[in-house]
Amino acid sequence: MKFSTKAVHAGVEPDPSTGAIMTPIFQTSTYVQAAPGDHKGYEYSRTHNPTRTALQHALAALENGKHGLCFASGMASIDAVVKLLKPGDEVVSTNDLYGGTYRLFTKIFEPYGIKFQFVDMGDPANIAAAITPKTKLVWVETPTNPTLRIVDLAAVAELTKGKDILLAVDNTFASPFLQNPMDLGADIVMHSVTKFLGGHSDVVLGALVVNDDDLAERLAFIQNSCGGTPGPQDCFLVLRGIKTLHLRMERHSSNGRAIAEWLVKHPKVGRVYWPGLPSHANHEVAKRQMRDFGGMMSFTIKGDHQADATKFLSSCQLFTLAESLGGVESLMGHPASMTHASIPREARILSGVTDSLIRLSVGVEDPQDLIDDLAQALG
Ligand SMILES: *Cc1c(COP(=O)(O)O)cnc(C)c1O
Repeated sequence: MKFSTKAVHAGVEPDPSTGAIMTPIFQTSTYVQAAPGDHKGYEYSRTHNPTRTALQHALAALENGKHGLCFASGMASIDAVVKLLKPGDEVVSTNDLYGGTYRLFTKIFEPYGIKFQFVDMGDPANIAAAITPKTKLVWVETPTNPTLRIVDLAAVAELTKGKDILLAVDNTFASPFLQNPMDLGADIVMHSVTKFLGGHSDVVLGALVVNDDDLAERLAFIQNSCGGTPGPQDCFLVLRGIKTLHLRMERHSSNGRAIAEWLVKHPKVGRVYWPGLPSHANHEVAKRQMRDFGGMMSFTIKGDHQADATKFLSSCQLFTLAESLGGVESLMGHPASMTHASIPREARILSGVTDSLIRLSVGVEDPQDLIDDLAQALG
């Protein structure tokens, strides 16, 4: 089945008791048993809930995986993956990781005796050099936030294949429409469903997709034991969002292209980071592993003064200043003072997060209206 058809139909069956075409919100904590243990597959909603089951099947189908597992947030899903490990195990991850993931790794799990290394994954040789006999997990993010670096997933999979090392990919920025890491050798795909999959900035939810039956069982055990599961109302909202994922991503991508190509030509704009531009450092890898390039991008204002960025941000009318991304409405952020404020200035500038860097999550509005807004604010 092609992606668009899966987005509309995968995982969803008409409700057998009523014929309702949309999966109902099963707002129930428990399920009647005819005799002890005699039930219809559902006992308690932390363990299983029919609305969540439908969503888990849909997400697995979109990522070409066998098993989906949903969590109360993207962070809760990452938490479950690290709980597969034990003290003494090592993790290799990227040096421009999502800030919340970095915090979870270093502030929560390091004290439990798990060791994390952060390397520049632009060159897979750095990953190879960091892998030791104790390495049990390689955690990748691509594209990265906020400078949209691309990691060559097939090359990383070569390094973990055949070893006792799980390769996990945070696929939030790409969404399953732009990229399917499992097809390139990943063992686990993780999503902050909050972003493009939900797509309407109205729900916080996370997910994992895996192929291996044993791995799925271990993760389901953690999901049920630790209990970071989403409610049925949130699962319903995501089921609804997914039905238009392909339409939204096509528009995010075409709007993204129009804006990136316009920004590059603007005399006040310094650098533009969008993987679809031939000038992007990892454009060739992006072309190989992504179907299109999406609406996430960042750029600097010439001179690189924070004051110019602040003035620009408060002059935009359509682009709204807010955390998060992936909704139908265009959002923008200032990483240096928002998401990356806790990183020392020198280190932050080395990684490309300079004082005037502005991140855009380009929405699905009319592209000319969006360009007009950027033009008047830059003016
Ligand atoms: C938002 C985000 C997360 C965290 O997800 P939540 O749903 O906010 O818990 C993880 N990774 C990336 C890349 C994100 O953008």
